[in-house]
Amino acid sequence: MTYRGRFAPTPSGEMHVGNARTALLAWLDARSRGGQFILRIEDIDKPRCKPQYYDLLMEDLRWLGIDWDEGPDIGGPFGPYVQSLRLGDYERALKRLEEQHLLYPCYCSRAELMAVASAPHGLGSEGPAYPGTCRKLTEEERRERESRKSPSLRFRLPDRAAAFEDGAAGPQRFEPGAGGDFVVRRADGIVSYQLAVVVDDAAMGITDVVRGADLLDSTPRQLLLFEALGVEAPRYAHVPLLCGPDGKRLAKRHGALSIRALRERGVRAETIIGAIASVSGLHDRVEPIAAHELIGRFRLEDVPGEPVIVDEQWISRLAGEAPPAP
Ligand code: GLU
Repeated sequence: MTYRGRFAPTPSGEMHVGNARTALLAWLDARSRGGQFILRIEDIDKPRCKPQYYDLLMEDLRWLGIDWDEGPDIGGPFGPYVQSLRLGDYERALKRLEEQHLLYPCYCSRAELMAVASAPHGLGSEGPAYPGTCRKLTEEERRERESRKSPSLRFRLPDRAAAFEDGAAGPQRFEPGAGGDFVVRRADGIVSYQLAVVVDDAAMGITDVVRGADLLDSTPRQLLLFEALGVEAPRYAHVPLLCGPDGKRLAKRHGALSIRALRERGVRAETIIGAIASVSGLHDRVEPIAAHELIGRFRLEDVPGEPVIVDEQWISRLAGEAPPAP
């Protein structure tokens, strides 16, 4: 089967060096294996997304030398490539899950539902595991709650462990019920990241997902959804995140490291790609390099397995505030 990879950003802010690195690794894996690369905009959580970031994302990627074969701007056989235009697909998938009695309504308060679509970051960061309160409601209790609050929908986890081989993080095992039954549609009607990403990866024939390690523990949930929808799941590789000197992931608060800000300050795309490559096991020297020049030598196995901590000097050199490395 032809390799089909993808980058699936959420347009909730400017693209950052950390996201650019994830995009670069996913793109290099696809291109070095003669694969296709798809760009999909994950704007399912509309209140979090801003239209101005859609175009900026594409502009930033292109400027960095990352291209795609199918995407929102150029179309393709599996479009549209924007989640907010694919709502019918999600509803159909929900119906299929419902028919298999895999979903149930949950009336728990908003606080307990935090971080479902707005922070699609796996078990660890989705807070405490859902204890299954609404799983056990009687018909009568359900009716009574229904009159007071519209429910979210949760996926009923099976009572078995999940195991899979991750292309970057190695063998993974999750205990039965890890994280608890998860939300596939919020009470406000917005479908969750978990559902939308699976429906789209399935519909777009994605064979290989390379993404950030923050999504590693979403994967057992996504595997269950693939299984329930009767679609073969892609292979997954979760690459460690780029972290700042404080050991925390490089985030939007490092404002100077947004791709737009760097570009406007006159930093070259090759300088950014070179800086990323040097800390990602892609290139043994710190020197400007074009993204396409890395394709021939790329091997996902060479990417370090631990989070990469960059120091202040790396940051200021990248931002053009310090002279290049000798
Ligand atoms: N849209 C998700 C994010 O920006 C990534 C989804 C994925 O790669 O599975 O965090």
